[in-house]
Formats: sequence, C-alpha cells, structure tokens
Amino acid sequence: MKTIPQRTCIVCKQKGDKSNFVRIVKTPSGEIAIDKTGKLNGRGAYVCDNIECIKKVQKTHALNRAFKCEISDEVYQKLVEDYGKN
Ligand SMILES: [Zn+2]
Repeated sequence: MKTIPQRTCIVCKQKGDKSNFVRIVKTPSGEIAIDKTGKLNGRGAYVCDNIECIKKVQKTHALNRAFKCEISDEVYQKLVEDYGKN
C-alpha cells in the first residue's frame, strides 16, 4: 500500500492529506507565495483549507513563526481573500 504523506496545519496542528491544506511556500529567493499548484520549490507551510484556520493565520501571524521571518500583511490579506470565504 502506498503511504500518503501527512501534512500538519500550522494553526490547529491537525494532520491530514495534503489535498486538505493550503500550501504556502518560501521560495529560494525568499519570497512568500501561496502555492495553488503544489509544485513551487521551497520550504512549505500548511494551513487547513477552511475559514477558521485561514483567519487564524492572519490573526496570529502564524506564518511569521512558521518561516521565522516577517511576512507582509499583503500575503495574509491575499490568503484570506482567496481562501477565507464561504
Ligand atoms: Zn487547521
């Protein structure tokens, strides 16, 4: 049987299949990108694809901790715009 790689949400620490998560990547050039294709190079952080966790990421600036650097508000805003609805 094939093992499915498990990801962990940086907000609620819930584990699951990567298809349940939004991937955010710090690219080798230091840029932060929301990885919609799942194919971007770089270090990734995962957040549940649900409104609670997406909003909490913005509220707690969880990406700053995950990537150990300052993340601009625009990134958080984009994340909420793209995934924080419904
Ligand atoms: Zn979560």
